[in-house]
Amino acid sequence: MTNLEEYLGGRIFNLRDLDSDTISTLLVYGAKIYSATYQEDKQVYCRRCLMPISETKYCRNCINLGKINTDDRLLITPSGLKFPVQSQYLKWDGKLTTNQETGVRELTEAFKKHRDHLVWAVTGAGKTEMTFPLIEQALKNQQRIAICSPRVDVCIELFPRLQKVFPNTSIGLFHGQSLEKYHLTQISVMTVHQLIRFEKAFDVLIVDEVDSYPLARSLMLHKAIKKAKKKTGMITYLSATPPKELISEVQNKKISLTKLYQRFHGHPLPEPRCHLLFKKIDFLGINPRLKFHLQQAFKNHRVMLFFPSIPEMLAFSKKLHREFPNLTFVTVSSKDPQRLEKVQKFRERQVQVILTTTILERGVTFKKIMVIVLNADAKEFSKTSLIQIAGRAGRGKDSFDDEVHFYYYYYNLQIKQACAEINSLNQQTKK
Ligand SMILES: [Zn+2]
Repeated sequence: MTNLEEYLGGRIFNLRDLDSDTISTLLVYGAKIYSATYQEDKQVYCRRCLMPISETKYCRNCINLGKINTDDRLLITPSGLKFPVQSQYLKWDGKLTTNQETGVRELTEAFKKHRDHLVWAVTGAGKTEMTFPLIEQALKNQQRIAICSPRVDVCIELFPRLQKVFPNTSIGLFHGQSLEKYHLTQISVMTVHQLIRFEKAFDVLIVDEVDSYPLARSLMLHKAIKKAKKKTGMITYLSATPPKELISEVQNKKISLTKLYQRFHGHPLPEPRCHLLFKKIDFLGINPRLKFHLQQAFKNHRVMLFFPSIPEMLAFSKKLHREFPNLTFVTVSSKDPQRLEKVQKFRERQVQVILTTTILERGVTFKKIMVIVLNADAKEFSKTSLIQIAGRAGRGKDSFDDEVHFYYYYYNLQIKQACAEINSLNQQTKK
């Protein structure tokens, strides 16, 4: 066998996929072999994804990660590893606000008590920075950390930030679209999906954007998070718009909570300006009122234009090109294989405008931008996604008052609730 590092750390393998040489080496290192299924109240469950198996001879739920038959056996590698002591861990010269420091204290407390914790922070509050001292604490204990998000884009954005502040620590980035093969690292940045491949592997699990698709409604992924945690480990959930289930766990005192109403720069969240259109956005090419506003915006702003769907975005992009032939822009969506490069182009100011679906509603930070949502009343948007989208604006210290505009044909509940919640968060900071 060539590289032990590619196997260790609480990884779950189907015994069928390993050669006998690898198996015997891993057994020497403490790996254990288990049946691929277990029974509870006459129901058969898959040991890898913890989901029930009914009527089939294999697990349908986690089949994307390789087929597990009910008569297969799994090999699970040991995770009780100690990482080397380092001369320096966190290298960051930023300063935490008083609110963030309170959050750090609460997180450290939860970590010491092996208690799960929710950080409920407005967009742009600096929740990632708040986790740095927690990560450092675990690193000092020679422990292992996973930082996960349901969204690949969020993982890709987080990875270089962590590499920068923990320059002496081994850090890996693992997701379905990455070429990097799994290997043992002290910090692993990965999509929540990847956690299905682990059992009792991490001392600290940080789950970013816990309310976002596809984690929000996936029982399998929620189980995967809990399964990947060591018995003595802790989970930190991060969200600007936490799901009901987590809030009720806080209320039932199963997990502890930190609330941050204020952005790191101390300025309020930009409140969306609402524009009722009496004609559709594509009326006369581009609705004249909208077109006038876009003309003004394109004079001296970089703009994010949000659309409810890919077809609407693509149709609009043709019109935009016709009406503003000199404008530089890109379109991105979940179906776009060049999405990451295009986002990078916008970030580097090679193009002035980015047209996007909800794929960029969270996890991305640009400075000095105007945010415009078209058809904000569409069913593809929700209160939560409108709050997240509005949260893309005003993230820089020197551009805290970036503008957010919602355009719609019908003023509906999601628009009303999103605006009301942003306003109420801003009121909280004044108290
Ligand atoms: Zn399964």
